[in-house]
Amino acid sequence: MNDFKRRGNNITHQDKRAKLLIVDDNKQNIEMLMELFRGEYKTVAARNAQRALKVAFSDTPPDIILTDILMPEIDGYEFCAKLKENPRTRQIPIIFVTAVSEVMDESRGFALGAVDYITKPFHPPMVKARVQLHLNLRRKQELLENFAFIDALTEIPNRRRFDEVMEREWHRAARTGYPVSLMIIDIDHFKLYNDNYGHGRGDDCLRSVAGTMARSFRRAGDFVARYGGEEFAVVLPDTPALQAKDTAHNILDAVDALAIPHETSPVAPHVTISIGIATMTPDVEKRDQDPGRLIDKADKKLYEAKSRGRHTIAD
Ligand SMILES: [Mg+2]
Repeated sequence: MNDFKRRGNNITHQDKRAKLLIVDDNKQNIEMLMELFRGEYKTVAARNAQRALKVAFSDTPPDIILTDILMPEIDGYEFCAKLKENPRTRQIPIIFVTAVSEVMDESRGFALGAVDYITKPFHPPMVKARVQLHLNLRRKQELLENFAFIDALTEIPNRRRFDEVMEREWHRAARTGYPVSLMIIDIDHFKLYNDNYGHGRGDDCLRSVAGTMARSFRRAGDFVARYGGEEFAVVLPDTPALQAKDTAHNILDAVDALAIPHETSPVAPHVTISIGIATMTPDVEKRDQDPGRLIDKADKKLYEAKSRGRHTIAD
């Protein structure tokens, strides 16, 4: 109890255990399941589907749900259907827990998207194993989904992911009124590099530069993606122009420090980058619906940096 209390008061503590939501109108059933999973998972109980939906739609949704079927007002089937309707809760695995005596319509539950059925009275190790199995399956599925957003060569986020993050941060900035900064970065004379050293070394160069940029951030929200070819994009949420310029200098210096030889570059004897920066606060009045204007501006600034002789920052 003491340990539990201490944890609750410590807001910096991060509980990595999976969150399990148990839904049942019968108090004893809830207590039995809570007892079974106590310690292993973060358990939350709801005596009816309305309350369970509130938990599911909260900022800390459950990783898996065990639900009774026969409940007053909203039954387990309807509860399941509501979760599947919403993109935020669609992926949560749902396991139905039913008594053998209850009339079961398994096909209906599976059609609604439930992943499993457990019948009461149950064998505790079996229930635990089933819950663990479905949590593992969900984690593997998440990994696969993430692959679609990773650039295979550099292993940093790809253009598709960038579009998502940029859009999200733009809308967040519109809500908060804070500026968002964007950098578009280009490796100088990369074609000459490939011509001289070959595409294998070119790929190595892209990987090194990408990794260095990804490691150069100090804040968790800063984000870098491969934008295409030898171009990268960096999103800096809640970042005014001056601070963005500081970060740009850090990145420029970090790439210099790699000291990757580039003997045919007219700029320097090593691989260098050019950076264009744009900072904006979305103007709700001007109907800035998308970050297009910010991206255009950063693009123009990159062009300016290049026309000034490259290996520099334009903002
Ligand atoms: Mg019931």
